[in-house]
Amino acid sequence: MTETSPTGNFHPDDAPAYESILQCMRCGFCLAVCPTYALTNRERSSPRGRAALARAVAEGKLEFTPAVRDEAFLCLDCKACSTACPSGVRVGTIMEFCRSQAQIFHPPSLPAGMLRDFILKRMLPSPALMETSMLPARLYQRLGLQWAVRRLGINRFLPGVLDKMEGILPTLGPPLRTEIPQFIPAQGKKRGRVAFFLGCAMSLVFPDVSRWTARILSQQGFDVVTPKEVKCCGAPHLAEGDRETARRLALINIDLFLALNADYIVTDCAGCGCALKEYEEILEDRADHERLRLFRSKIRDISEFLAEVGIRTEELRPVPLSVTYHEPCHLVHGQGLSGPPRQVIRAIPGVELREMKESNWCCGMAGSFAIKELETSRRILERKLANVRATGADALVTANPGCHLQLAWGVRELGMKQPVLHVVELLGRSLPA
Ligand code: SF4
Ligand code: SF4
Repeated sequence: MTETSPTGNFHPDDAPAYESILQCMRCGFCLAVCPTYALTNRERSSPRGRAALARAVAEGKLEFTPAVRDEAFLCLDCKACSTACPSGVRVGTIMEFCRSQAQIFHPPSLPAGMLRDFILKRMLPSPALMETSMLPARLYQRLGLQWAVRRLGINRFLPGVLDKMEGILPTLGPPLRTEIPQFIPAQGKKRGRVAFFLGCAMSLVFPDVSRWTARILSQQGFDVVTPKEVKCCGAPHLAEGDRETARRLALINIDLFLALNADYIVTDCAGCGCALKEYEEILEDRADHERLRLFRSKIRDISEFLAEVGIRTEELRPVPLSVTYHEPCHLVHGQGLSGPPRQVIRAIPGVELREMKESNWCCGMAGSFAIKELETSRRILERKLANVRATGADALVTANPGCHLQLAWGVRELGMKQPVLHVVELLGRSLPA
């Protein structure tokens, strides 16, 4: 927010910048790419309509009504409209600010608010607490209860939200953060030093993927430093309208990672990468600009990094597999990275990349959207999986834990055969033993 920005009926704290809303010239180029508009055919659920709602509130013509709140949360924040918009309007980001406003104008009930605060302000900022919170789920799996629930079809009698949460849960192992070495030396001729930003979801839910990332970085000639004090990147906080905690986490991560003196800071989670690249923006005047710029200059998604430094392919073994690639919104629209993951896939000998239609269309996960908006999320996913099926590819590749969970669940639900793999899992299959 600039000092001159009028806030109208927005609360001045964390209001969307009026100038960013004004950029919308109502051309409608964004309509064709918006999943919620495609489903509802409703103007207010389109990027243009959402920008108009925000403008009306900013100009004092509309109160921050429950309808404005609902549109802010129905937006997937997939950022597809930003890619399509000739004026550079970022409706997803404007809606993130509106979610912060929703906490002020329409706060949740006391119990729901306490739960929300516990998750966002206590649990997510504490890796140890996050790891402890996963113990019941791991026990549920280790004792064979999950097997029994699924085998006997008990999950079908659960309320929809619980059924989805149960179904989406992959087999959990011990969290990677506690066991990954803090330092893994480069193999062969050393090319540099990388700090690995280990995301919460990757450490807890897809530890094997991040194991591959660390191994690949080392095999490619980089020393890998993985700090165990890493905090959540803040993406869930931005999505849920808690910008204050997101800023607090950003400051801690910046100090932690800049102290490591690495050439690059690499992540294998598209959502984390997107949030880390936004630190400069979310901290605005709250941190030293030079440090913010330096931090930003080092952040790379793993595919972006490999494409930039060049993949050493001499030792790679053939992987005879046809794959199709789903582009995570936070990679393609949030970071503008469409080519690098394909470059990595094409660098693997034996792999055939079969492009799917609408590869950059959201999968319907969108953080907690898949749980809160079950039916809408399912319909968006079905569109995606129809495009996957049409390719006839052996495997489905992606690069974000949220997409990975949603796609793997959908594939299972529809009885499709394709395994879902992260790009680095595919590349890992070609590494020398
Ligand atoms: S958000 Fe962008 S693409 Fe959509 S109507 Fe406004 S200016 Fe046009
Ligand atoms: S971020 Fe996605 S869901 Fe939200 S308005 Fe833009 S295209 Fe639509």
